[in-house]
Amino acid sequence: MASAPKQHLMTDGLILRNYETVAETDRFIAILTRDKGILRATARGAKRVNSRSGAATQPLCYARLSLIPGREKYIIEDAQPIEVFFPLRQDVERLALAQYFCELALSLCPSDSPAEDHLRLLLGGLHYLAAGEKAPLLIKAVVEGRLLCLEGYAPDLGGCSHCGREETPLWFSPTAGTLFCGDHVTAGDAMQVSSGVLAALRHILYGPFERCFAFSLPPSDVAALATLTERFLLAQQQKSYKTLEFYHTLREGI
Ligand SMILES: [Zn+2]
Repeated sequence: MASAPKQHLMTDGLILRNYETVAETDRFIAILTRDKGILRATARGAKRVNSRSGAATQPLCYARLSLIPGREKYIIEDAQPIEVFFPLRQDVERLALAQYFCELALSLCPSDSPAEDHLRLLLGGLHYLAAGEKAPLLIKAVVEGRLLCLEGYAPDLGGCSHCGREETPLWFSPTAGTLFCGDHVTAGDAMQVSSGVLAALRHILYGPFERCFAFSLPPSDVAALATLTERFLLAQQQKSYKTLEFYHTLREGI
């Protein structure tokens, strides 16, 4: 019996990374797609100078894609760029952060299931990074916090986990994912949180999705917020991210 022709998948997605291949002209990539989450695909001939799909299959390009399902991965039949986030490629710090967002997405986003909110969050993060109006650390905190939330790692920020006290000062434990008051703080990794940082964190995690980047904070609170979301992420994920380490190395040198 002849098998039915394979259906094309028409979707849009953000190219997250490029893998080294032995093929001289093909490019092997990972994409965060709206309809199928993370998928891996080959862009045939994409390394050729005049390739039509070449520009649209570079990392950090958001593209309209026509994909043919293969045995283990997809083949890109066509890719048209929608947004290339050009300003990110001109600033080493923002580029490093964008690459970290891509590594986070690869590690946290679902495969083979719709990922519309994940994609919107990543595109929002890259949009604000490229626009250059918001502090990079604030954007980092939103992407880390909300991505964890989408994957079910939301911390409990109601008040002290022992007595329910809501007035600051309060302490947050990245490992426990809960708050403690001064009388009940015992966790070794607990960090004190100001009322401004706590309000921002609640906004990022529990606020309306389309407004998760819409807030401002004084620079010292932005730094504290970004440290907190990063420690929470690393404690919950129990892994390290090469691109995050590179970003910190870069910031120390700036
Ligand atoms: Zn308490």
